[in-house]
Amino acid sequence: MQEHLRKSDTLNVIGELAAGIAHEIRNPMTALKGFIQLLEGSIMKEHSMYYQVITSELQRIDSIINEFLILAKPQATRYEEKEITQIMKETVDLLTAQAVLHNVQFVTNYNEQLPPIFCEPNQLKKVFINLIKNAIEVMQEGGNITITIKKIANRMSISIEDEGIGIPKEIINKLGEPFYTTKDQGTGLGLMVSFRIIAEHKGTINVESEEGKGTIFRITLPIEDNNVAIPK
Ligand code: ADP
Ligand code: MG
Repeated sequence: MQEHLRKSDTLNVIGELAAGIAHEIRNPMTALKGFIQLLEGSIMKEHSMYYQVITSELQRIDSIINEFLILAKPQATRYEEKEITQIMKETVDLLTAQAVLHNVQFVTNYNEQLPPIFCEPNQLKKVFINLIKNAIEVMQEGGNITITIKKIANRMSISIEDEGIGIPKEIINKLGEPFYTTKDQGTGLGLMVSFRIIAEHKGTINVESEEGKGTIFRITLPIEDNNVAIPK
């Protein structure tokens, strides 16, 4: 018991440190991004490649910082009753442009009659964004992303299915490890944050995948509020 307490104390300290550092890096980053943008017009042609690398690496630092801030200090979490289909619709709208660019279509199976669930809508949106972005990014040839939401017994079930490259069996248990990524521009933090948010909602998340065929991420969430731990 005491061991458990001590561990979570350490985790809190690490979390606060990470948030503090991320916050401190954010201000100089904002200055850097601003000034580098101002330089854009005066870059010599033969240096434009360097400029591109600088901006894309800055972008990467930015995403890492943002994910860290969410991970370490979830912004004022407020649980409320909210329709999950509404959260999903907003997410899909947000990602439509990116999907079109990748030749990806959304196929959505959900009806309006589902009961609201007790959740932190912004956090859940973050999870859906992460999973759908991942799905878009692994479909080099385009294809469908099928999103299904239904009520099964007293839980809400959400599945996101892609037609991407799939995940090798031996890799599946690496998912959610911090910094595990197979992408040049990846942070390897998206799934970690997502798994944590789902756990905070007392939900479950699992992955089914076939190499070369695609991947399904399945989430279940409790509908009632009586067993959701509200983070302090
Ligand atoms: P990132 O997207 O920055 O790489 P994530 O935590 O979101 O970080 O994902 C970690 C890794 O998990 C990805 O780099 C990829 O290898 C794998 N992955 C996640 N989602 C999928 C998917 N739908 N299909 C195939 N691989 C995936
Ligand atoms: Mg990702």
